[in-house]
Amino acid sequence: MRESFSTPQCAGCLACAEDCALLRGYGRPIFQVPLHEITAEQAFACLQCGLCAAACPLGLDPADPLRVKRQELVEVGVVNLGDYRYLCPDEHDNMWALCRAALGIDYDDIEPREATSTLFFPGCTIATYSPRLTRAFLEFLDGIYPGAKAVVDCCGKPLRYMGLNDRAQQHLKRLEAKLEQWCVSRLVVGCPNCYYELLEGLGGNAIEVVDVYSLLYSHRSLLPVEDRRPSVPYTVHDPCPDREAGVFGKQVRALLEYLEVPVREMRHHGRYTICCGTGGMAKHFVPGAGDWSAQLRAEEARASGAQGMFAYCMSCLFNLADSCTPLPVVHALSFFLNVQDEALDNRRKSREALS
Ligand code: SF4
Ligand code: SF4
Repeated sequence: MRESFSTPQCAGCLACAEDCALLRGYGRPIFQVPLHEITAEQAFACLQCGLCAAACPLGLDPADPLRVKRQELVEVGVVNLGDYRYLCPDEHDNMWALCRAALGIDYDDIEPREATSTLFFPGCTIATYSPRLTRAFLEFLDGIYPGAKAVVDCCGKPLRYMGLNDRAQQHLKRLEAKLEQWCVSRLVVGCPNCYYELLEGLGGNAIEVVDVYSLLYSHRSLLPVEDRRPSVPYTVHDPCPDREAGVFGKQVRALLEYLEVPVREMRHHGRYTICCGTGGMAKHFVPGAGDWSAQLRAEEARASGAQGMFAYCMSCLFNLADSCTPLPVVHALSFFLNVQDEALDNRRKSREALS
């Protein structure tokens, strides 16, 4: 194993550690910590949220040593990823497929049978826990691009989180082959994790990757017209993958403004957003790994004076619904489409069925 991670440019300012309990725990810049002093638990407890990199004035990524350590532990077999096959979308008994089976959710009728130019890619969590929302968005999409279909698949990011980069690449190649077979030219993506993953992964070919909120904003006159404005202010939680480009966050806020929904921002948002606590799937490896972050997020939500929260990543919604109680947390897509979302209920049911 490598003993050190040499990065001489680090100025030692500790700006990266200010909002990260993990980095603060070292009491010195992580780049001064020899790799052998980083424990397996610390390496796997990193949320891979990117906040430390956003905070570093020198543009360094202080999570790199943790990532390197994580990769090494997997390579030398200290951590057996076989114990986590339920997180692997390329395994037939992955947790999303098992949940859909337990809940009796099936999308056979909306998957393509023939060439289709526009395809909705809801992502694993929306498709698994929110069939009503999945179908409602597809109906909206079909109104704009008649004949649009949906594909329930994974972008492969969970594999990358585990350091299984080759498998993630193969997974993406299989998805690419399916899209090619269906002659897809436009992929409308519901999950910010998937969006950035697919934007990068499919960037080299002719497929246009669009986020659901840009599409909703472009066709906002078609949104359900009922006056659904909350009479109290809401805040918006930005998920980590949207930190840099901010595509989803910008469109969600534009839609909220269009609908005249009062918004109170939390102290950390946009580029400096705080992870909901589920980042990097860390809590699967180290129980309680992201609790400090979830707690911080809940404190900021309360301090904002908002009476509710919009999330636009379903995994964030699940964790924030737990940590921000009693603040209601609503999926932005279900709000814009006026869909009574059953995600939290389905999560409970699937847990009961699979426990
Ligand atoms: S948890 Fe986030 S802020 Fe902390 S080291 Fe990991 S990526 Fe950086
Ligand atoms: S990694 Fe960046 S933010 Fe962290 S101590 Fe070094 S220079 Fe400062």
